[in-house]
Amino acid sequence: MRGLAVVSICKPCSSIFTIPPSFPITQRGKTNHFSQFFDPPRVCSVSLSSTSFISVLQFKKENEKKKSNGKFGGIRRGGCSAVSSKCTVAEGRDGDFVVVNFYRFVFIEDPEKEVARHLYFLQDLDIHGRVYLNEQGINAQYSGPSRDAFAYVEWLREDYRFSDILVQVSPALNGHAFPKLKLRYKPSLVQLEGGISHLPLLDPSMRATPLAPSEWRKKLEAINNNGSSNANLNANYILLDVRNGYEWDIGHFCGAQRPNVDCFRSTSFGLSQSEVIASDPLADVDKERTNILMYCTGGIRCDVYSSILRQRGFQNLFTLKGGVSHYLENEGPVEWIGNLFVFDSRLSLPPSAYKPEATTQASKTQQASENSTFARCYICGSQLSDLRHRNCANLDCNLLFLCCKDCVKDLKGCCCLDCMFAPRLRPLLPENQRYKKWHIYRDMELQSKSTV
Ligand SMILES: [Zn+2]
Ligand SMILES: [Zn+2]
Repeated sequence: MRGLAVVSICKPCSSIFTIPPSFPITQRGKTNHFSQFFDPPRVCSVSLSSTSFISVLQFKKENEKKKSNGKFGGIRRGGCSAVSSKCTVAEGRDGDFVVVNFYRFVFIEDPEKEVARHLYFLQDLDIHGRVYLNEQGINAQYSGPSRDAFAYVEWLREDYRFSDILVQVSPALNGHAFPKLKLRYKPSLVQLEGGISHLPLLDPSMRATPLAPSEWRKKLEAINNNGSSNANLNANYILLDVRNGYEWDIGHFCGAQRPNVDCFRSTSFGLSQSEVIASDPLADVDKERTNILMYCTGGIRCDVYSSILRQRGFQNLFTLKGGVSHYLENEGPVEWIGNLFVFDSRLSLPPSAYKPEATTQASKTQQASENSTFARCYICGSQLSDLRHRNCANLDCNLLFLCCKDCVKDLKGCCCLDCMFAPRLRPLLPENQRYKKWHIYRDMELQSKSTV
């Protein structure tokens, strides 16, 4: 092994680093500090487990062997030929940043080794985001210059298990949309109460039938446009938004009820037992006859949740394949109102980000906003044109809320009066910016005090 640098990941801070060849292998699993071996020195307060080292080392060894046999196609850089046919944004310049999302449920025999393989490939690429792997597959959201972002997809697709993986791409105009790369083994690919490792995700028959965007559109148009002429049709369909209420507040499909959910982890549609819960749209439906049309941002939450509903006896489950982002890219905002909430620093994207020629249906937006929380200021209830949340300036509240310009000014970026007098208050942020780490504001304050 002499002469080989080994790439690994710091468990506590998730940063990727290279262990220099001079570092004695026998000590690697035992030491607590690697900082003296890094240039520039880095402090990693907790050690890597010895198993992580071994898997990385093993991968490295096999990789070298395959490379010398000419069998390993692994490390190829640049180019996005395999992707660009499916991703319109991919045709941008190399320096353009994009956000990429994909997931797949597939059996991975040795996920730790797979993690090491991915880390090794990504070590020279500028990728930030969350990539999680386990025995059930992969779930990834990341940002990077398009060249690097697509190199990763292309590399992944060389593996037969991921060769036809559906990839969502959207522009990231302000560079990285994630602070750093977290690529690791995670017991649950999405957060759900009780975990998801017991769910039969690898069996497609235990999940909903995926509908292509065009099929989804046809169904929605039939339901939403038939009015009272065919009440039976409407009674047979339930359009289920499998996201959070605050996501619905800035955009949703016409006809979808606002989910009474603050966090996917606690989603419980269709699980209410004897008593009928008013907020559960599946509480009183005929499990054998009703068609449930489920949608979420990128498709993974629906896929997971459909397997729970399947186990509960729901027969006719349909999901929107690739989620809303795939739909907007293919169909534009037909039957869609508002923007799409995204879980990165951009927070919200207009449909035109996915399909540039698309325009929002202003009249539908107007209609939808009457008597509902859609596009309303959380403080004063006035109608908003800027469909984008902001975080409360009080660090210890940090509530994600919609707010009009006047209320932002009056409450100095806070969600309520109490927060305005909280001890850890951050300055009012200009539009479309996100808060940085707290220590930056704390240090700014100390500095201004010391210069007085
Ligand atoms: Zn307001
Ligand atoms: Zn607050």
